[in-house]
Amino acid sequence: MPKDIRELDDSEINSFVLAQGEKQFRTRQIMEWLWKKAANDFNQMSNLPASLRKSLEENFTLTGLSVNSEQISRDKTRKYGFQCPDGMLVEGVLIPSQGRVTACLSSQVGCPLNCSFCATASLKTRRNLSAGEIFDQVTILQDHSQKAYKTNLSNLVFMGMGEPLLNYDNVLQAISYMTSEKGLGISPRRITLSTVGLTEGITRLANDRVRFYLAISLHTANDEKRSSLMPVNKSNPLASLADAIKLFHQETSSRITYEYLLMKDFNDSIQDARELAEFCKITPCKINLIEYNEVEGSAYKKTTHERLQAFLDFLESKNLIVNIRRSRGHDIDAACGQLAGKSA
Ligand code: SF4
Repeated sequence: MPKDIRELDDSEINSFVLAQGEKQFRTRQIMEWLWKKAANDFNQMSNLPASLRKSLEENFTLTGLSVNSEQISRDKTRKYGFQCPDGMLVEGVLIPSQGRVTACLSSQVGCPLNCSFCATASLKTRRNLSAGEIFDQVTILQDHSQKAYKTNLSNLVFMGMGEPLLNYDNVLQAISYMTSEKGLGISPRRITLSTVGLTEGITRLANDRVRFYLAISLHTANDEKRSSLMPVNKSNPLASLADAIKLFHQETSSRITYEYLLMKDFNDSIQDARELAEFCKITPCKINLIEYNEVEGSAYKKTTHERLQAFLDFLESKNLIVNIRRSRGHDIDAACGQLAGKSA
């Protein structure tokens, strides 16, 4: 079975090009077609000789994601179901806000981490997405953003299906094609990778001195509560998470974002805010307080306006930078923690 050409790096493509008796500059042209112009057919590669196009076609496949479904929310958020070449489905979301459009990307089909508030967890992991499949979400969503909102994507966030640090190599490879000059040339400062807090992966990001932003789905700064909410906390407790975050900040000088889903009578008391403020002392940071989106069958409920305000006031009294993130795309199950392949 021929290999997908997008699984090859420059040097492997170059070896192939030279073996065909072609000049080295053809490698750059092929890479541009793959990662700058997002070609999905060898015949689009119009500046290559027909003989080279033919041998590419004989030796490799060039497959990618296709749009399987599109849903539009009352608030203009759009959710897409993407079909992978093997028939698996993942989802991506476009969120327009104040003239900007954020694309929410998936990194895995399903997710093994079983966070109790998340619909994706019910899918279990089927597999990691390839770098090409992650990259395709950006080019497809960019296209749809231009058509639907008449503007380019402003930000990219890895907050869709899956835990990106469990698919480290492919996610980093995809980001490199999104950001490099031979790819889409997007600034890494417009990309945020959101993780549940896998300390090994965060340490790797620190050592790789990545230039994109890191967000942690924290949701509580209390180990006992966090372990009940997110089983991954048992093997990655807050003390080790704090060490990894400190290292990340030391190596990248980047400010961390904490995502905090407020759930009624679970993590929305002043004591919870106090524990959060204490945890936040470790590095410069900002906090996104997010309305919880009730997921079918979930025991958690959305907090009240009064409790949210008291929580916010407490954090601000500690001089923390806090944003409130309103739920978007709730009616089409496109909001945080709601992606579960229902579009299938
Ligand atoms: S919140 Fe993220 S890490 Fe947790 S189960 Fe859902 S997709 Fe996986």
